[in-house]
Amino acid sequence: MAFPSSPTAASYLLSRDNAFVSPIAALSSTPTRAESHRLFEEALRYIPGGVNSPVRAFRAVGGDPFFARRALGARVEDADRNVYIDYVCSWGPSILGHAHPEVVRAVQETALGGLSFGIPHGGEAELARKVREWVPGVERVRMVNSGTEATMTAIRLARGFTRRDKIIKFEGCYHGHVDSLLVKAGSGALTLGQPDSAGIPAALASLTIAVPFNDLAAVEAAFKANPHEVAAVIVEPLPANAGILPPREGFLQGLRQLCTEHGALLIFDEVMTGFRLAKGGAQQLFGVRPDLSTFGKVIGGGLPVGAIGGRNYIMEHLAPTGPVYQAGTLSGNPLAMAAGLAQLRVLERENGFAKLETLGAQLEAGVREALRSTGAPCSFYRYGSMFCLYFTTQPVWSLGDAKTSDLAKFTQFFWHLLDNGVYIAPSQFEAGFISLAHTEEDIEATVAAMAAALREMY
Ligand SMILES: *Cc1c(COP(=O)(O)O)cnc(C)c1O
Repeated sequence: MAFPSSPTAASYLLSRDNAFVSPIAALSSTPTRAESHRLFEEALRYIPGGVNSPVRAFRAVGGDPFFARRALGARVEDADRNVYIDYVCSWGPSILGHAHPEVVRAVQETALGGLSFGIPHGGEAELARKVREWVPGVERVRMVNSGTEATMTAIRLARGFTRRDKIIKFEGCYHGHVDSLLVKAGSGALTLGQPDSAGIPAALASLTIAVPFNDLAAVEAAFKANPHEVAAVIVEPLPANAGILPPREGFLQGLRQLCTEHGALLIFDEVMTGFRLAKGGAQQLFGVRPDLSTFGKVIGGGLPVGAIGGRNYIMEHLAPTGPVYQAGTLSGNPLAMAAGLAQLRVLERENGFAKLETLGAQLEAGVREALRSTGAPCSFYRYGSMFCLYFTTQPVWSLGDAKTSDLAKFTQFFWHLLDNGVYIAPSQFEAGFISLAHTEEDIEATVAAMAAALREMY
């Protein structure tokens, strides 16, 4: 099928039957990636490592990355026109699938009125109001341009509000590439063996206390060892940057209690889980209310957006009402606000979270059956549309447990899937994402590919 070059034509095909690219069965022989290879060689001449974000380089799985030609719905097509069912979804943002027609239309229409104002506009409050409606406890929202900016602002705000300097974080949690938070970090930092980055002054890193996830006693000990010094505990309420670490019953509640007792703020980094697990994110799912929340990914509809939200008495400490400075030339960008709003509207209208749960449950049932029938020594975790398969039988509660996964097996699994038309993140220490564009048939084909991979491996 000739691929439409204009978004309008793409939207038409997408909205009709979502069959805008060759069906996955088309990938019957092992794909070749000569054009991707050429583009990578070219990129290496001008860009460090050839990529603008390290995990994209495929270092953890060996081999070259493939280059995208286009991505629509649940499919991504590479530069050699191989087509994959995509479970990376731009690392989370594309919860409706890629280039959803309503999101694309909102961006197109808004663009005709200007790409950036640097002047307040109605779209900012409209998106902020949506966040306030969906996330209990969020009374004010400040928009920024990435998840990193959101967490950076959140810890500055927590420090300014409490007049304390220290931060408690968890090993394997990733909060973007903020200096203070690149300590025992997850995601690419972990994948590339740099959980503690070079270039961060020891004096700054010493203000960050990293403890194991799910270990309340360690958090309590950290508070006791640093009396009246801890400004905040920052946590991914469902850590998904070291694979997926399920929070133990009572762990998040325990953090809430310890923070309240010790006068520290509890920050939930919901850059990944926000607007993905439920309308109110992980805080709604687990029933724990943080003092501050950070968002990104889904809230931008695929454009660069982050946000910080919380109760007004804390948020008003931000400039211009308060002494904690924070700013952004492109913050509240009209295209980004329009894309985010359009995405949230579709999610709501389509009863998105219930549908994602159904698709997730289908995937989980299929994977569990494949594990049972092959006897593969794996553990599988899933929350809604997020999932992770570890190559270890050890229950995974912490980074230490996640690291018992057999990474050689993961690499084998990854390439088998890719060569059979299924794209999962090129690292064990990432989560998979299902979108509303994935169909039952996609999930079925994916489970079949996973089962075939496991049969070959075990
Ligand atoms: C992706 C991510 C970030 C960083 O967001 P960027 O937009 O990449 O800066 C922060 N926290 C969590 C939990 C994330 O998953």
